[in-house]
Amino acid sequence: MSTTKTFAADNDARPTCELTGKTAIITGSTSGIGLGIARSLARAGMNIVLNGFGTPDEIKATRSALPLARGRETIHDPADMSNADEIAAMVGRARNAFGSIDVLVNNAGIQHVEAIETFPPERWNAIVAINLTAAFHTTRAVIPDMKARSWGRIINVASAHGLIASPFKSAYVAAKHGLVGLTKSVALETAEHGITVNAICPGYVLTPLVQKQIPQTARARGLTEDQVVRDVILHAQPTRRFVTTEELGATAVFLCSEAAASITGAALPVEGGWTAQ
Ligand code: NAD
Repeated sequence: MSTTKTFAADNDARPTCELTGKTAIITGSTSGIGLGIARSLARAGMNIVLNGFGTPDEIKATRSALPLARGRETIHDPADMSNADEIAAMVGRARNAFGSIDVLVNNAGIQHVEAIETFPPERWNAIVAINLTAAFHTTRAVIPDMKARSWGRIINVASAHGLIASPFKSAYVAAKHGLVGLTKSVALETAEHGITVNAICPGYVLTPLVQKQIPQTARARGLTEDQVVRDVILHAQPTRRFVTTEELGATAVFLCSEAAASITGAALPVEGGWTAQ
């Protein structure tokens, strides 16, 4: 774990808001959507626990570029989301560093695109572990503190594939549907404790996860990579454009706000109209 904390510049003059001084863990936040959400929560005044892979130089650069508010801090924790012991240790370290965990964003995820009959069992296991089981371990670790303070926000980054399916993504679709189910169940358990639990269901966002699956999808469907982008990815979304990490960061800030205190157990599509079709 990086123990050196990064502080915001003293001349930051942003007004305080309801999230100021609270602390968020965002899993898988060294890249893509998780990083976008971390940036938005930092801008809203929160302390940030980054998690995910990267070289020390990359992680240092990511931490330095976070738009932290005055007096706020960030740490990076390298816990592997496929390992229950590392997840428990990460939550413990975050609690030691900041005293409490107010917001948990379960975002870490991986993908593999292949027909079911040749889908490698070890890829299935890894996808279910990182995209679904990790959220069970993080959630059970943070709930006692949230209940004790009668306030908490848990956001699970599911997918449009938590609501509908596509071919050749059996493990991912199963894990994301499972994550939506976990969201609903924990929302019911915590509803009287000032805790909300929601899933965000993004459409396609142009991150390394999507860039890596373009050649896999081309192989699985017998298409060129250009055809995959035009006829599979953007064809799915009536807006015909990628969702942005900034849009997802703003959605997360809204779900953390008091204005969203009565939204719990929801699976919120942010997918350019994909699932309305
Ligand atoms: P990404 O590849 O850009 O980022 C994934 C992050 O997870 C990275 O920080 C990586 O280091 C981290 N990570 C991967 N395995 C990990 C592990 N074992 N332990 C800890 N961290 C790990 O991907 P992304 O597109 O930003 O995806 C983030 C989430 O959003 C995923 O859950 C994904 O399923 C979901 N999602 C993505 C899209 C999309 O189009 N990109 C759409 C819907 C949902």
